[in-house]
Amino acid sequence: MTAKIISGREVAENILQDLKKRVDILKKKNITPKLVVVLVGDMKASASYVAQKEKFAVKAGIDSEVLRFNSEISESEILNQIDEINKDDEIHGVIVQLPLPDHISVTKVLNRIDPKKDVDGFTPTNVGKLFLGEETLVSCTPKGIMSMLESTGTDLNGKNVTVIGRSNIVGKPVSILCQQQNATVTMCHSRTKDLNAKLADADVVIVAVGVAKFINGDQIPSGAIVIDVGIHNIDGKLCGDVDFETASEKASAITPVPGGVGPMTVCALIENTIIAAERI
Ligand code: NAD
Repeated sequence: MTAKIISGREVAENILQDLKKRVDILKKKNITPKLVVVLVGDMKASASYVAQKEKFAVKAGIDSEVLRFNSEISESEILNQIDEINKDDEIHGVIVQLPLPDHISVTKVLNRIDPKKDVDGFTPTNVGKLFLGEETLVSCTPKGIMSMLESTGTDLNGKNVTVIGRSNIVGKPVSILCQQQNATVTMCHSRTKDLNAKLADADVVIVAVGVAKFINGDQIPSGAIVIDVGIHNIDGKLCGDVDFETASEKASAITPVPGGVGPMTVCALIENTIIAAERI
């Protein structure tokens, strides 16, 4: 079997057409959705992610601004900045690009964001609402993954989904979202025994481990859908947590790296900013 490629770029482009229409409606009401990105320090990867977000914001017709701070900025100064953003009616969404320098508490900073503007969906309020199945701003990577699965026409009802990785930003929320669509979810992590057994009857495999080519084709059940969240730069070449060459021989559909989950994460962020603006 040679897998169909689930192109995140294509799915994002389709969603973009709908987003543009929603932005036009808002603009007729004199509302231009605005996203603010708080960027601390000068990490190359962070700068590149932020550039992708700005590019997609322009395509969708929304405003975006990057507030840049050097890595010496104090925690209280960042918290004050968040307070100012929370008060500003012209700003609908804010994200703090992670990681932050060690002297700044990520938890304190994220908890300070007004949940209505929390377009990354990281605040306890929005995570709690997701857990309870209430309407909320869903964190971007899991939201993007669900859109990609939807694009394949897969009905998750009664399907077996194996998620590898239990991070707060990917593994846990995507497990909840799959469960809400009536999938039976198996969550694996670094202490899981016999990972291969947990993969054996999976209809969908979602891999967010952070180890290059961690899963290979031998571990993928024939015909499964594979979502590869990982992103690694190995000697100048990007790859994911899944060994694409061998996995695509077994899967029925698979996301590539690059061009898979990455563009969908950005697309979900812009959609969340539009949702936040629609709600005011
Ligand atoms: P993380 O480091 O927070 O979590 C990794 C998870 O993998 C942990 O829960 C851990 O228990 C699990 N794990 C580690 N070793 C394991 C093992 N041997 N067996 C089973 N599970 C194991 O990672 P994260 O933030 O979820 O990110 C995962 C990857 O996805 C990274 O490569 C990251 O760069 C990438 N990522 C990409 C996007 C995107 O938009 N494309 C977004 C978020 C994260």
